[in-house]
Amino acid sequence: MAENGFKVLLVEDSRTQALRLQFILQANGFEAVVATNGIEALEKLSNDYYPIIITDWVMPEMDGAELCQTIRMRQFDGYVFIFLVTSKDDPADIVAGLEAGADDYLTKPVSELELIARLSTAKRVIELERSLKKRNDEVLHLSVTDALTKINNRSYFNTHCPAVIARAARAGHSVSGIICDVDHFKKVNDTYGHLAGDRVLEAFSACLKGLVRVDLDLLVRYGGEEFVVMLPETDAATAMVVAERMRQEIEDLRVPWEDGTLKVTASFGVVTYSPTGQEKQVAIEEFMMVADNCLYKAKGDGRNCVRNALL
Ligand code: GH3
Ligand code: MG
Ligand code: MG
Ligand code: MG
Repeated sequence: MAENGFKVLLVEDSRTQALRLQFILQANGFEAVVATNGIEALEKLSNDYYPIIITDWVMPEMDGAELCQTIRMRQFDGYVFIFLVTSKDDPADIVAGLEAGADDYLTKPVSELELIARLSTAKRVIELERSLKKRNDEVLHLSVTDALTKINNRSYFNTHCPAVIARAARAGHSVSGIICDVDHFKKVNDTYGHLAGDRVLEAFSACLKGLVRVDLDLLVRYGGEEFVVMLPETDAATAMVVAERMRQEIEDLRVPWEDGTLKVTASFGVVTYSPTGQEKQVAIEEFMMVADNCLYKAKGDGRNCVRNALL
């Protein structure tokens, strides 16, 4: 790794020029890798990410402008800031280079002071792009995460669930869904306060999380005190076992609150879709509606129980 975190790819067919620039770059804390032509540069770029490229304009096989155009058509781990080095100082040539995708240009002979000053501009641009990307990833993460329980939210479910059902239909596997809702949760809030209710929801979701398969099942907070788990490759009998286990573990759960503990129960609706290959694919709305009807039935049957249906 370069001392300052910026790896530079030098593309230069003249060995003398390449060595001189490499020396300057290394003396200023950059790691500088040399490629002697455009094809070699593209090869290096396929194996590694170089945030900065300094490329000669006139080279055999593939010139600097063509290299710029090719780089701009590819995807990299971050922004690639390109300098074209030219002995041409005709404005038309410089415009052509910038149009080919270069960010800046340097004229030969390259002055050390100017090179370092321009590189610090490139670093600013790359750092800005990195921080925007990081912020963007954070915002994306927040948009699919429930703030209280830190598990995924309904929006995440709506985005990913249709693919889970489609995969099951394609592969001819069963897929099950479990929806659960805390029983008489309003009473917890009314009796102990909203904060106590929040602690219960956190413990509730942690309990469910411990009972689902990591990286396979999809657990989300579907609404206020409702949670949904998608279980790929799971038939009705297995889904009932999982739901019953959840019901039992929730019943046994004790949530520390002030000097004592709080306890709740939950009702469960389970739906299983078993594709036969003949029918049209089930829509997520229908899948969830059937699960919801089962939950409603479980509530009607006295709560703290599991009801299921097949699709
Ligand atoms: P049932 O057994 O029929 O489901 O009764 P319930 O009281 O659980 O159902 P109801 O829909 O009447 O009440 C749900 C309550 O959940 C109302 C709402 O204030 C509470 N709730 C929703 N989200 C949160 C939350 O994030 N924190 C807390 N503390 N309460 C929440
Ligand atoms: Mg040359
Ligand atoms: Mg409830
Ligand atoms: Mg509810």
